[in-house]
Amino acid sequence: MRDFLIRQAKLFFSSSSFGGFIFKKITGLPVYRELVSKRIFRQIVSDKQGLFNLIIENANLCNASCLMCPYRIMKRAKKIMDSEIFEKIIERVKQEKLAINKIFLSGMGEPLTDPQFVGRVEKLKKLGFPLRVYTNASLLTKKISEKLILLGPEEVNISFNGADAKEYHRIMGLNFDRTMKNIDYLIKIRKKSGRRLPWLQVSLIVLDENSRGLRKYLADWRKKVDSVTVSIPHQWGGGIKEISNLKGQRSNIVYPCRALWHTFMIDSSGNFVICCRDYESKFILGNVRTHSFEQIRKSKILKSFQDASLKYRQDCLPEICKQCNFPYQGGVDWFLPRSLD
Ligand code: SF4
Repeated sequence: MRDFLIRQAKLFFSSSSFGGFIFKKITGLPVYRELVSKRIFRQIVSDKQGLFNLIIENANLCNASCLMCPYRIMKRAKKIMDSEIFEKIIERVKQEKLAINKIFLSGMGEPLTDPQFVGRVEKLKKLGFPLRVYTNASLLTKKISEKLILLGPEEVNISFNGADAKEYHRIMGLNFDRTMKNIDYLIKIRKKSGRRLPWLQVSLIVLDENSRGLRKYLADWRKKVDSVTVSIPHQWGGGIKEISNLKGQRSNIVYPCRALWHTFMIDSSGNFVICCRDYESKFILGNVRTHSFEQIRKSKILKSFQDASLKYRQDCLPEICKQCNFPYQGGVDWFLPRSLD
């Protein structure tokens, strides 16, 4: 119930200009700022000792060409993660007895471009932590859908960025009917199986190109899936500049970024990268071949960024953070339960 209410509130603030206006008003109040500051210091103590998220980029190849994604300009080698790296991650998670909140199969690619996708989902599920798969579902064959229902990752998030074929194709460069058919099949067989998992979520990033159809989008998808999320576009550390309605700053005030405390991102080459938004893997903290999670977690450089962030010293953070709009989201992240990560 709590998660449902938070999801609805997030939807309200991100999907309407009135919601955006209210959000800006509230987050600009001195009393709100004080509340967030207190919350941050309490939360950091528990985040340091608590569970973390692990993002695994099993592939940084993508079949879509989304307007709001820097994939089109990414220069980093595009590849499927080697088996040796994937197995090393599994080995380290087991050896280090890691406490994980969620594992995400995600990154700068479409996870289904990976021919070993199903086998990897199976191996990750055996680790016993909640698993969320991000996909655009355009490569979601019947066979993969059936396997997903059997293996039961906790969540499948489908990026679907348009209310109709025209909007969808304009934004993602994919075939609307084909993707719809794939999603309908997944919904159908989950229903037939009687299983509740995976939880099916559809997500949209609001652009000028799809804002007119937003009402229809929400009405259509609410009938079909378990949840719908709508968010504003990300600037990707300055990588995306040219899209139509990039209004990344929701608040005029910068807050420390919680992602620096609770998430490990491993790219398709096995690098521990500062953040999933570092699409070129420019800021590398180590590599899973040579570094343990513990070494990364306790590294002096990461600690220096955490400290700088707490002191509101954006100038001491990596370039990607200096130009990121995430710290301008009103510090809301510090209040959200980890189940919604
Ligand atoms: S400030 Fe932005 S780029 Fe830096 S860790 Fe936070 S979300 Fe990632």
